[in-house]
Amino acid sequence: MMTGKTAKRDDLRVVVMGAGMAGILSGIKLREAGFSNTVIYEKAARVGGTWRENTYPGLTCDVPSHAYTYSFEPNPDWSYMLPPGAEVQDYFERTAKKYKIDEMIRFNEEIIRCEFKNGRWHLDMKSGLHDEADIVIAATGVLHHPSLPTIPGLDKFQGTMFHSSRWDHSVPLDGRRIGVIGNGSTGVQLICALAGRAAKVQHFQRTAQWIMPVENTPFTEEQKAAFRADRALLHSVQNDATYLANVERFTNAVADATSPEIAQIEAIVLDNLEQSVADPVLREKLRPNYRAACKRLIFSPSYYSAIQHPDAELVTDGIECIEATGIRTRDGRLHALDLLVLATGFKADQFMRPMNVVGRNGVKLNDVWAKRPNAYLAVAIPEFPNFFMLNGPTGPVGNFSLIDVAEQQWGYIAQLIERLRSGASQEIAVTQSAMDTYEQARLAAAKNTIFASGCNSWYLDAEGVPASWPWSYGRFKEAMAAPQLDAFGLKA
Ligand code: NAP
Repeated sequence: MMTGKTAKRDDLRVVVMGAGMAGILSGIKLREAGFSNTVIYEKAARVGGTWRENTYPGLTCDVPSHAYTYSFEPNPDWSYMLPPGAEVQDYFERTAKKYKIDEMIRFNEEIIRCEFKNGRWHLDMKSGLHDEADIVIAATGVLHHPSLPTIPGLDKFQGTMFHSSRWDHSVPLDGRRIGVIGNGSTGVQLICALAGRAAKVQHFQRTAQWIMPVENTPFTEEQKAAFRADRALLHSVQNDATYLANVERFTNAVADATSPEIAQIEAIVLDNLEQSVADPVLREKLRPNYRAACKRLIFSPSYYSAIQHPDAELVTDGIECIEATGIRTRDGRLHALDLLVLATGFKADQFMRPMNVVGRNGVKLNDVWAKRPNAYLAVAIPEFPNFFMLNGPTGPVGNFSLIDVAEQQWGYIAQLIERLRSGASQEIAVTQSAMDTYEQARLAAAKNTIFASGCNSWYLDAEGVPASWPWSYGRFKEAMAAPQLDAFGLKA
């Protein structure tokens, strides 16, 4: 029988942090499930998260476009297999509008404090606004705080300098002398866009990268028309069996550094290097001394040809310091630059921080995460009741769709918040013993992954342990299918 108390639970206040890919997803799913009292707080003025913030030349989604799409919102109009970043941003903006999620969002509101008191979450915004919530969904993303290098003289440079995620489009590029520090996915995409456009582009490489060859084929107008006309065809492209098999194969490969799958990947990237780089000296400079996929594998159709462009130069001598007019390398050479781009990555251990998050009994997130950020199955933290994360710490990382990861995590979280709505529970928090069991198993498995095979990357935590899901993708899907309720304290 419905009680008054049960009916009231339909009105649970849900706060979503962030209006990027995962925040938009949360808004859509919450509305669909009938939650009528939801707000999404977004610190910026637009949706899109990482795709809003990154606009550098050459930005390309390196996950196949039809897989990098909400399962319920296929897009027949993707231009390329690996589409430009602006098109991905446009997809999120259109989707937010179509599902009227933009109406749910309070833009330019940065949450600075989130504290659990008297059974509810109390949130303070930088603007002075206050809100209270029964449920919090943290959809704040992972890679959003730029990591700036600590190179002597960084502040002495008199030309233009910015981080890759803070691109200033008013700065001219054509005919300029441009330096790019960093050769992760970002630096590599930048070189591909700048070679042949800048008077000279210099790529400052500290550690070589393995490059997986990939073709970026455009979709023809006929193909797009066929996708528009035939939903089943679009669905089959979106759930392309080859891609899904590759995801499974890739995660099996990274989970076991001794697997035959990883040996196959190593053979492909080695062959790519040997076949694509003509000059033996350059080839040796580009040859990594660690195993393929130890760092996030770079998929690029054109890096090797871009770096061999007559106006491009790979600089591997090591940076001594930065001076007013350019970069001085350890061999004494001064590389004069007009523009210096820091493609030096992000602080990957921040998640919703610097927000001050305080759970039950005054437990501070900063203390819980003092050693390393972690979360039970990447979604829940002990003493943080009714607080769930999408793309939180120790979730899958790798070269596949984080949209799919977030959707699966949502499926899991949805089952827990349904208990709150039905009134079956008032507070749901993972138990410390479930957290400890998960973390012990994760740490043990992490040591066998390729990420731990001897390289430096943003996948590693402060102690050098891979901060990721260390098992197969199949195991992740299985874990997300249904919560094991005995892992949670369910306060009625
Ligand atoms: P990243 O992979 O963390 O790479 C940072 C680069 O900066 C590395 O090459 C690093 O060298 C270098 N670096 C850092 N500090 C340095 C210093 N003091 N001196 C010299 N070099 C320094 O960062 P990212 O390229 O921005 O990519 C981060 C992640 O964003 C990717 O792994 C991926 O997950 C995501 N991303 C995705 C796409 C996409 O298309 N989907 C595109 C771009 C980025 P070392 O290797 O020596 O440390």
